[in-house]
Amino acid sequence: MVEKIKTDVLVVGGGPGGRVAYMALKQFGVTDVKMVANEEPTVICSLPYGVGRRLVPGGPEAVVVDLSKPHRLPPTILQDVLQGNVTALDPAAREAVVEGPGGQTAVGFDRLVLAPGALPWIPAVEGVLAETGTVQGTGVFYGDEWVDKGRLADHVYVLRGAWDARRLDRLASEKKTALVVGTGAIGLETAEALLDRGMAVTLLEALPHVVAAMDGDMAARVEQRLAERNVPVRKDARLARVFPGGVELSDGTVLEADAVVFATGVRPDLRLAKATGLETGRGIVVDRQMRTSAPEVYAVGDAVQVVDGATGESILPLIGTLAMRQAMVAASNIAGRPMELPPLTAWGVSEILGLHWGSVGWTEEAARRAGYSVAGLIQPVRTRDPFMPEGKDGAWKLVVATAPKDRVKPGQILGFQVVQDGDSPLFLAERFLDIVSRGETVMDLFGHYFIHSPAHNAVDDPYLGLLSQAMRTFGR
Ligand SMILES: Cc1cc2nc3c(=O)[nH]c(=O)nc-3n(C[C@H](O)[C@H](O)[C@H](O)COP(=O)(O)OP(=O)(O)OC[C@H]3O[C@@H](n4cnc5c(N)ncnc54)[C@H](O)[C@@H]3O)c2cc1C
Repeated sequence: MVEKIKTDVLVVGGGPGGRVAYMALKQFGVTDVKMVANEEPTVICSLPYGVGRRLVPGGPEAVVVDLSKPHRLPPTILQDVLQGNVTALDPAAREAVVEGPGGQTAVGFDRLVLAPGALPWIPAVEGVLAETGTVQGTGVFYGDEWVDKGRLADHVYVLRGAWDARRLDRLASEKKTALVVGTGAIGLETAEALLDRGMAVTLLEALPHVVAAMDGDMAARVEQRLAERNVPVRKDARLARVFPGGVELSDGTVLEADAVVFATGVRPDLRLAKATGLETGRGIVVDRQMRTSAPEVYAVGDAVQVVDGATGESILPLIGTLAMRQAMVAASNIAGRPMELPPLTAWGVSEILGLHWGSVGWTEEAARRAGYSVAGLIQPVRTRDPFMPEGKDGAWKLVVATAPKDRVKPGQILGFQVVQDGDSPLFLAERFLDIVSRGETVMDLFGHYFIHSPAHNAVDDPYLGLLSQAMRTFGR
């Protein structure tokens, strides 16, 4: 028999988007909220560091969120969580079906927040799946096909949840060598975690350079750091097959390793949204209040596509803090306090072997592929004045439109990248996040003030440096 319950708001998904939606709804005075979660919640961004144990000595368990000791979460969370999967959703009838350990529950709701997130994407090469795998967790996309993680071969790894982190942690304790496929933030952070644990790691990248979120000229600095630390990187590497002792590339090269870790990107999980008939494109289509094509259903997080503030294109940012911000917007609207998501663009900031990198908006390469005419301006920076021995070299790069296209105007800054040693570029990237997502031009750089403080930076004003470079380039 199907149990029937009713709640004012049902949140689907217990990731950062779902949890913050739940929390914000409670804070805004909506008391009757239920959240459906199908896996242990984690502070997901810290999973690689849990595996590495240098920054998180407690290992992966320290990164798992214990709902019985809620930190910041409302104390009602345990009784409000329904364990299981939402397998069917009927917005017109305002009912969702949850399949849990105890059977099916039909949950009636007034409003629903869909936060199903994204899943690791693995290229569909031979040897990734096994007849009888032992891996636990939710699912992955193997090419275009959703497969249960239980079907992954024992030597194949991904990193998205607590089980994945525990498996990698065990791998690091028991084995010596790993191939990490993919050199984005997650690939590099996972590689460093395994290096920290004493494993020998080789990186494989299908593209001509590492870190697709940056252009080749900036990513070269990351490649140099990897080379200095003797971390082998194979670029333009296409996998032909995976086998228990390693991989074979399409050029016939065989690389041996105890494990193959896929960090080849993620894809939004649109299965429920599509089955429900919600409008989808690359992700679930929402307005700036986070409402989907069904007025009583809101959607937030990695499964949602948003409008890029710089260009007006639909983008999939796949960023945790953005999922949380979207969740706040959805919750506020549901609670009767109208709110819209401010302009945004995509971003990524990380660190590998002491070298910090950040990228905001469009790379020169991605902008050209999308049909924009752009120029790249690189400004070398030194982190301290030349007479200070602790100063390190770095570089900033602006991607600037040189011709109009749709709403993009000449001189508009479409992207920013930074690579620097030692110091975190976090606040700098945040500043350029505003500049890019609000459509500012290089001339607007003059309106951004620069603070010099010898203990923190060098006296040269890089905003003026970039502005002068832009004026020379554009003949102003
Ligand atoms: C290793 C790693 C490092 C990262 N580092 C950073 C970082 O430094 N900074 C940053 O901002 N972002 C980072 N991210 C990205 C960030 O984790 C994601 O953007 C964020 O998790 C998205 O939150 P979400 O709630 O939309 O989706 P998810 O975290 O994917 O959560 C969705 C949840 O919903 C569940 N679900 C799906 N369908 C259903 C259903 N039908 N019923 C019930 N439950 C369902 C899923 O299983 C999952 O548990 C990182 C991601 C990873 C994997």
